[in-house]
Amino acid sequence: MLQCRERIAANAGFKDYLSYAWRQLRRFDYTPEQCVEFHAAIKQEMLPVVRELQEERRTQLGVATLRPWDLDADPLGRAPLKPFANVPEMLERTQRIFDRLDGGLAAGFQQMRDLHLLDLDSRKGKAPGGYQSTLNESRLPFIFMHAVGVQRDVETLLHEAGHAFHALAAQSDPLLAYRSAPIEFCEVASMSMELLGNDHLGEFYPAADARRARRSHLELILKIFPWIATVDAFQHWIYTHPGHTRAERTAAWVALMNRFGGAVDWSGLEAARANLWHRQLHIFQAPFYYVEYGIAQLGALAVWVNSRRDKAGALAAYKRGLALGGARPLPELFEAAGCRFEFSAKTVRPLMERVREALLGLRDA
Ligand SMILES: [Zn+2]
Repeated sequence: MLQCRERIAANAGFKDYLSYAWRQLRRFDYTPEQCVEFHAAIKQEMLPVVRELQEERRTQLGVATLRPWDLDADPLGRAPLKPFANVPEMLERTQRIFDRLDGGLAAGFQQMRDLHLLDLDSRKGKAPGGYQSTLNESRLPFIFMHAVGVQRDVETLLHEAGHAFHALAAQSDPLLAYRSAPIEFCEVASMSMELLGNDHLGEFYPAADARRARRSHLELILKIFPWIATVDAFQHWIYTHPGHTRAERTAAWVALMNRFGGAVDWSGLEAARANLWHRQLHIFQAPFYYVEYGIAQLGALAVWVNSRRDKAGALAAYKRGLALGGARPLPELFEAAGCRFEFSAKTVRPLMERVREALLGLRDA
C-alpha cells in the first residue's frame, strides 16, 4: 500500500503522499504543520491530565503498575451501568434530555420519532452498525443503531442525534452539496451533543451513577487524544520517509508510543506494543483521516465549555453553526458555533483546565 501510494503521489506530481493526501482530502483550511503543532499541544497540555487519571486509576485498582488491560476496566469493580430496560424507555428519557436542552432540538427529535426515522433496537437478522444517514429526497435524517441497554447506547443516540440535528438545520439549503459539512465540523455537531446531553444524565440515573457515567465519558475523550496524536504523527512519518525499512518504521512507532503512551506497563508485551498500529483501520483504509476526530473533539469541548458559562448562548451558537451546513469554510463554521478552528496549545490549554475542573467535580464523595 505504501509503495502504491507513493507512486500515486509521484504520478500526480506531488513531492510525497502527505501533500497528495492533503489535497485529496480537500484540506484547504489547515496545514500538515498545524497538525504537528496539535500533536505537541496534546503532549504538553493533555498528557499530564491523562497521566494524573492513570495514577488515580492505579491507586484505585491497588496495583503496582497499570497493565494494558487495566485501562478499560471499572477501577472500583462496579457492575456496568444500566440506563434503560428497553428502547421506548431510552427514547422517552432521551427526549426529556433534549426538552431540557433546547425547544427547537427537542421538536426535531420528536419529529423523527413521529415519522419513524429511528431504528434503534438490536434484533436478530438486523445488519450491524450505528450511524445517522440523510434521506436526501425528503431531506430528513435517519438513525440506525443496536441498543442493548448500556451507557454507550445513550451516548451513541446523543451522538447520532447531533448529526440528525445538523441535517435538519441545513435541510432548506437549495444546494445538495451545502446540506452537509466537512467531517471536521460534522463531528463537532455530534460530539457536542454527547457532552451537552450527558450533563442531563439524571434523566437516566440516580445522581451517583450519572456522575460515574459523565466522568468515564470525559476520561474516554481525554485518553483518545494521545492515541490520535500517535496515529497521526506515525502517518506523517511514514509518508515523509520514502524507502524506509520495516525496522525503521517499527522504531518510529515505538518512539511515538514512548512520547504519547502514558504510564502503562507493557513488559513482556513489547512485540504487541511495537505493532499496535495494526489495530487502527484508518492507517490502512483512510490515510490521514483519523486526526479529524481530534480536531472535531476539540471543537465539541469548546461548545460544551461555552455551555457551562452560558447555556442558551452556547446552544444558539451551536444551532447557527449547524444551519450553515457546508456553505462556508471550516474556520467560519467553527466560529459560528462559538469555537475556534485552531489546535495549538493556546486553544487546548484553557479547554483542558475546564475539563480537569469538571472531572474533579465528578469525583465520588
Ligand atoms: Zn459521528
